[in-house]
Amino acid sequence: LPVVAVVGRPNVGKSTLVNRILGRREAVVEDRPGVTRDRVSYEAEWAGRRFKVVDTGGWEQDVLGIHASVAAQAEFAVEAADAVVFVVDAQTGATDTDEAVVKMLRRAGRPVVLCANKVDGQAGEAEAAYLWSLGLGEPHPVSALHGRGTGDMLDAVLAALPDAPAQTFGGGLGGPRRVALIGRPNVGKSSMLNKLAREDRVVVDDVAGTTRDPVDELIQLGGKTWRFVDTAGIRRRVHLQEGADYYASLRTAAALEKAEVAVVLVDAGETLTVQDTRILSMAVDAGRALVIAYNKWDLLDEERRFYLEREIERDLVQVQWAPRVNVSARTGRHMEKLVPALETALSGWETRVPTGRLNAFLGELVAGQPHPVRGGKQPRILFGTQAGTRPPRFVLFASGFIEANYRRFIERRLREEFGFAGSPIRISVRVRE
Ligand code: GDP
Repeated sequence: LPVVAVVGRPNVGKSTLVNRILGRREAVVEDRPGVTRDRVSYEAEWAGRRFKVVDTGGWEQDVLGIHASVAAQAEFAVEAADAVVFVVDAQTGATDTDEAVVKMLRRAGRPVVLCANKVDGQAGEAEAAYLWSLGLGEPHPVSALHGRGTGDMLDAVLAALPDAPAQTFGGGLGGPRRVALIGRPNVGKSSMLNKLAREDRVVVDDVAGTTRDPVDELIQLGGKTWRFVDTAGIRRRVHLQEGADYYASLRTAAALEKAEVAVVLVDAGETLTVQDTRILSMAVDAGRALVIAYNKWDLLDEERRFYLEREIERDLVQVQWAPRVNVSARTGRHMEKLVPALETALSGWETRVPTGRLNAFLGELVAGQPHPVRGGKQPRILFGTQAGTRPPRFVLFASGFIEANYRRFIERRLREEFGFAGSPIRISVRVRE
């Protein structure tokens, strides 16, 4: 079995994390007589793969200087490991001892997953992001105590192990990409679904290892299988009088919950309604990749087309980054453009900007157009890091309060520089004195 060593200085939560990984039921304590000190290894399983976890938590009372001992002990475990989980206390931040361990890890050359522990709430994520400075790649925010984030971290651990199965694009869940077709009643969702499904309805059986949800439909498009989630809600056209809106929005929320990318259908023949806007916001707020489909294009005359261009510019400023397709579910017009739009959106959604490039960019941006002076002070962006993807999330550290206008400016420039077409991006700013 591949071996994963959990290392870190005392009190960062190594043993709590190991217990969390083992989920107790799985724990099989292996007696290893003769091994120096109380190194303990356990068998664990995650996502159907078995591996050994070496807990170095019991090695903490060394008579040597603490720096030397922690690093030395860790080194011992790392030597025998295929991958290393390096646990750092995100609340405390990186200490000299941590730095010493990092040096050793560099020398050892094993794959390292950086675990930023004690991130018990959303607020702690910024502290976790600080650990990018260790140069070990993405810090995985975890609360070993509450279990938060340990799944994502274990995904990263498995991916780092030598016998890792080829990663399906899109990470953790694998399988076909999940699409939600949403939009207000009568925009043509079921027509579009029928059009898409007409030719290549997929036989479910050849999708190995994915549990099938009976309300989803697998459809082959552009040589790939796509999972259209929650299509039962589209096909079963319930006509409720009262509360219809409410149920429609519940369905939309449920579909978004399961999807990676949303196709929001709007009726090109009509001016965008409040309900359309609300559905677009739901998709953006859910943090899903987004494609906007203007349907019923076959109904448009010259004049309507002319005004529509203007309307689109005006109504979709908030989401002008989303790819648009002008289709007709009835005639099939431009339906082949849907797949490239989905691909674009998903790839924007998964884009990761290396910290170095991001900071080079931020440096130039801030020098070229500084934040306006407020109360005699000039707030500055000190540095930034991408805290995650799907959608891209950024944490910027600033010397003072950064105004909404300036944040929007940064977002706009980030998009110009790095793309993110089809994806919302999240920027949070932390103020450091
Ligand atoms: P849903 O409520 O969003 O699922 O909408 P439906 O698919 O049931 O479509 C509502 C109505 O619009 C039906 O009468 C469809 O035939 C019509 N429709 C859907 N797509 C198109 C289109 O591209 N062009 C035209 N002309 N009519 C369409």
